[in-house]
Amino acid sequence: MTFALHGIPVSKGIAIGRAVLISRAALEVSHYLIEPGKEDAEAQKLLDAFDQVRLELDQLRLGLPKDAPQEMAAFLDVHGMILADPALAEKPLKLIRTQRLNAAWALTTELNDLLEQFAEIEDAYLKERGNDIRQVAERVLKALNSRQKDAVEDPEFIAPTDLGTDAIIVAHDIAPHDMLRFKDHLFTGFVTDLGGKTSHTAIVARSMEIPAVVGVRHASEMIRHGDWLVIDGEHGVVVVSPDEQLLSEYRLLQTQAIEETRKLQLLKHSRTTTADDVAIELFANIELPDDATQAVELGAVGVGLFRSEFLFMDRHQALPDEEQQYQEYRRVVDLMHGLPVNIRTIDVGADKALGAGTDLSQTGTSPLGLRAIRWSLTEPEIFLTQLRAILRASAHGQARIMIPMLAHAKEIDETLRLIEKAKSQLHQRGQAFNPNIQVGAMIEIPAAALVLPLFINRFDFLSIGTNDLIQYTLAIDRADHAVAHLYDPLHPAILNLLYSIISQAKRANIPIAVCGEMAGDPTLTKLLLGLGLTDFSMHFSQLLLVKREILKADVGLLKSLMPAVLAAIEPEAQSQALERLLT
Ligand code: PEP
Ligand code: MG
Repeated sequence: MTFALHGIPVSKGIAIGRAVLISRAALEVSHYLIEPGKEDAEAQKLLDAFDQVRLELDQLRLGLPKDAPQEMAAFLDVHGMILADPALAEKPLKLIRTQRLNAAWALTTELNDLLEQFAEIEDAYLKERGNDIRQVAERVLKALNSRQKDAVEDPEFIAPTDLGTDAIIVAHDIAPHDMLRFKDHLFTGFVTDLGGKTSHTAIVARSMEIPAVVGVRHASEMIRHGDWLVIDGEHGVVVVSPDEQLLSEYRLLQTQAIEETRKLQLLKHSRTTTADDVAIELFANIELPDDATQAVELGAVGVGLFRSEFLFMDRHQALPDEEQQYQEYRRVVDLMHGLPVNIRTIDVGADKALGAGTDLSQTGTSPLGLRAIRWSLTEPEIFLTQLRAILRASAHGQARIMIPMLAHAKEIDETLRLIEKAKSQLHQRGQAFNPNIQVGAMIEIPAAALVLPLFINRFDFLSIGTNDLIQYTLAIDRADHAVAHLYDPLHPAILNLLYSIISQAKRANIPIAVCGEMAGDPTLTKLLLGLGLTDFSMHFSQLLLVKREILKADVGLLKSLMPAVLAAIEPEAQSQALERLLT
C-alpha cells in the first residue's frame, strides 16, 4: 500500500530506492565486506564472541549474591537460553559465508529482522522477549566491537562496502559523526525519525548532496527493510511503496533536477558580483580536509568554516595528537593554494559527542552546557595542542584561527592568552608559524551580538553562526524535531540582530561573514544582501545555487526595501515587506 510520511527537508533532490533499516546498535559497528577466502575466520570471530558472552553470563550467574532477587537469576537464564539457541547465530553465519558481510554487520542484520517480527506480536509477554534478544545481541556486538577496535589497523579490513546504489538509509537517529562515516558508502538518500533542519546530522547530510528528510517521526517503525521509497528532499516527503504512476512522476522530477544541476555548473567560472556590480565573496564550509578540493573546484575564495571537531569525534580512535592535526590542517591549507582557511577550534558538546576513545571529562549534551570554547578552556592542554597544530599549518598558507561560542570578555581574554602561549611554545621549539596569524570569533550567542564592540576590539574577523544564534535567541534546541516548527530564521528578532551585527562590523571595517546554514539557503540570499552582507560561507553543494541568486540581485534596491522589513514585527506586515524584498 502506498502512503506518505512528512518530515523536515534538509537536503534537496529526489531519491528513489529501497529502504535499508539501520538500528542504533548497527551504527556502533562497522560495515564492510570481508576479503574472499576469509569467510571462515570471520565466522569464527562471531562464534568466539558468542562463547565470550556465554562465559560472561556464567560468571554473572555465579557471582549473584545469595539475597539477589529471583528475577535476576531468571533473567540471566533467559539470556543464556537465547544465546544457546543455534538459530540466533545461524543466519548471521550464512550472511558471512554467502554475502561476505563482516560479523557485526551480519548479526545486526539478523537482529533487525528479529526485532521487526517481535514488533508485530500482540502478546505483551512475547513482545518483551524481543528486548531480551536485543540485549543478548548487543552483548555479542560489544564482544565483537572490543576485538574490532584492534582490528582497525588489521590489513584484512578493507574499505567499507557499498550499500548499493539504490539504498536509502532509514534510522531512528544518526549521530553527526556516524553520518560522516557514511560518506564513503554509495547510497542514494537518508530518512531519520529525529533531527532538526540545522542539527549537525542534517548539516552533514546536506554536505553529501544526497536527498534527506529528518524528523519523520516513526519512519523507522513504519518503513520496512526493502520497501521501495521516494524521498522528496525539497518538500520533506517520503513516499513508501509508490505505485507506477507516482514513480514515473518522480522520475521525471529527478531528471529535471539533474538537468538543473548541470546548467548550474556553467556558473562555476563567472565572477560573483550582483547585477549592480557589488562584489560578493563566497567561502566554503567543510567537515573533512578533502572537502577542500571540491570547494576550490566550485570557485570558493577560501574556507570560511572548517569544523575541526569532526577530527575528534571518531569513537573508535583516540584524539589526534599535534602532529596528526598539523597534517590535517596543512592538507586543507595546501589544497586551498594560498586562499584563507578558517579553522574553527573544537566545537564538541550538545549534539556532537567527543570520540569515546578517550577517558576525558565529558562534554555536555545540553546545547547550554559545556560546549565548544567552554570545553576547550577546561582542557587547556588539548586546546594548546590544537592551537600549536593550527599555528604550524599557518607557516604554509593562510590558516586562521576561529573561536566558537564566545560570550564573556574573560573567555576571550583567556583564549587570546592561550594563543600567545602556544606561539611562545613553538618559538621555544624553533618551529615555524605565522606570528601574525589572524584570529576570529564566531558570533553565535545573542549576548555576543549585544556587546559586539568587545569582539570588534579584540579580533581580526567575525563570522555569524546563525544556526546557534537562532537556537539561543529563540530558545529552540536546533536538534529537537518537536520544536523544529518554531526554529525561524525570519523571526523579526533574528533579522534585527543580524542587521545590528553586520552594520556595526561594516562601520568598524572588520570582516564579517555568515557561516550558518542561512548563508547557503538560496531563498534567503536576497535578504542577507539587503542586510549588507558581502561574505557568505556555506557548504560547497550550495555555492552555485546562491551564486545564481547573487548574479540576479540588485543590492541598492534590496537595501532600500530593508527598513520596512526590519520595522515589521506583526506577521502580516512582515510577510508583505518580505514579499516585496524576495519576489
Ligand atoms: C552555526 O552555529 O551557525 C555554525 C556555523 O556552527 P555549527 O553549526 O557547527 O554550530
Ligand atoms: Mg555554532
